[in-house]
Amino acid sequence: MIANQVTIVQELENRVRNFRRKTQYMWNWSCDVCGDSKVKLHKARFYVNKKDDNLLCYCHNCGYSASFIMYIRLKHPDLYSRLSHDSFIEHANVMFDYSTIINRKGMDDTILQKLFYIDKYKDFSQWYAYLKNKKILLDKKSMEKLIEVRKNIVNIL
Ligand SMILES: [Zn+2]
Repeated sequence: MIANQVTIVQELENRVRNFRRKTQYMWNWSCDVCGDSKVKLHKARFYVNKKDDNLLCYCHNCGYSASFIMYIRLKHPDLYSRLSHDSFIEHANVMFDYSTIINRKGMDDTILQKLFYIDKYKDFSQWYAYLKNKKILLDKKSMEKLIEVRKNIVNIL
């Protein structure tokens, strides 16, 4: 599915300023979110990079950062419509910031239980495989928190 995105990146060549392909999966050009420098037209501080099976964007001038798909939706909606709905959902999932939700102050265990299917499996490895299958990728701190919540729930299952 990254091939779709690469095709779209290449089509931006004629739309953005200073488009350059640096490596197979790295490009940069003048940021069209902030306009980059209007005075020094050669400045090109918008980067696209591969991470896992996805392309991510970052502008070193304005700090804009998003998945390539979100960027296309914002700035080149006609191209966005060519990326499939399915691939958007998948990437939205991957990009979703779960750790903010999990570690939010006052977050209720029963909400976490529902959101992360904590009571779906009694067996830890089955549950973990289910999360991975759903493309729910969690950092260590978030995982530890969910395991804590799980300990209480599995006892009463
Ligand atoms: Zn920018």
